[in-house]
Amino acid sequence: MKHCLTIAGSDSSGGAGIQADLKAFSANGVFGMSVITAITAQNTQGVFDVQDVTPSMIAHQIEAIFDDIRVDAIKIGMVSRPETIEIIAKTLKKYPLPPLVIDPVMISKSGYNLLQPEAQKALIELLLPMATLITPNLPEAEVIVGYKINTLALMQQAACDLHTLGCTYVLVKGGHLEDDATDVLFDGETFSFLHVKRLETKNTHGTGCTLSSAIAANLAKGMCVKTAVEEAKAYITEAIAHGFALGKGVGPVHHFY
Ligand code: PLP
Repeated sequence: MKHCLTIAGSDSSGGAGIQADLKAFSANGVFGMSVITAITAQNTQGVFDVQDVTPSMIAHQIEAIFDDIRVDAIKIGMVSRPETIEIIAKTLKKYPLPPLVIDPVMISKSGYNLLQPEAQKALIELLLPMATLITPNLPEAEVIVGYKINTLALMQQAACDLHTLGCTYVLVKGGHLEDDATDVLFDGETFSFLHVKRLETKNTHGTGCTLSSAIAANLAKGMCVKTAVEEAKAYITEAIAHGFALGKGVGPVHHFY
């Protein structure tokens, strides 16, 4: 059995964040562990409050795991503020780093800032260079590269620019473009394109968290990055297709369809 760690925020409604990550780990056949960076009070209608976990508590969670258990892959999601990012980077550097997938979570679909704007610089400078793969959606990629991305050619340009930050692979997700969604995977030399027909559903809460965790699970199982991304893309596509109504707002994807 392989062991995967998520370092991310808690979503009380269970559709995104740590809860989605652990479900995606289980659904993809790996043992899931978690370091909680922040607690959100949220439901299918929005995020109402956030409490950040202290840097020392984040460090202690990471140390407790790495001092005892083999970690085969890591996924990092919501990191909230500069202090959180600094302590994660510093603590992870004490250990050999397994494959690391970073989902540079910034704003929830409901419009809440899950990454404080003043934390963007720390994320770009301290964490992204450590990643095997980063998985920005278009709004996140735009914040990092500083220009509007609305064509496939600009997605490729953005993938090149993001790659210069120091990560090994970049996956720019095209879900925010109109029409069918194409994602661009770039390894510094070659582009791969992942294309699926757009699914008509409003129940997409947790898509980004779930995809990045499924990729981390696949890397833990020993797949190469391209295969890990392709398999995870097939998984998230079915999870979205089986997304379901929960509560009064945007329902979650179905991790165990
Ligand atoms: N809550 C947490 C803790 C998250 O990490 C995320 C996304 O990464 C979200 C909420 C937002 O999920 P969505 O934008 O899919 O609704």
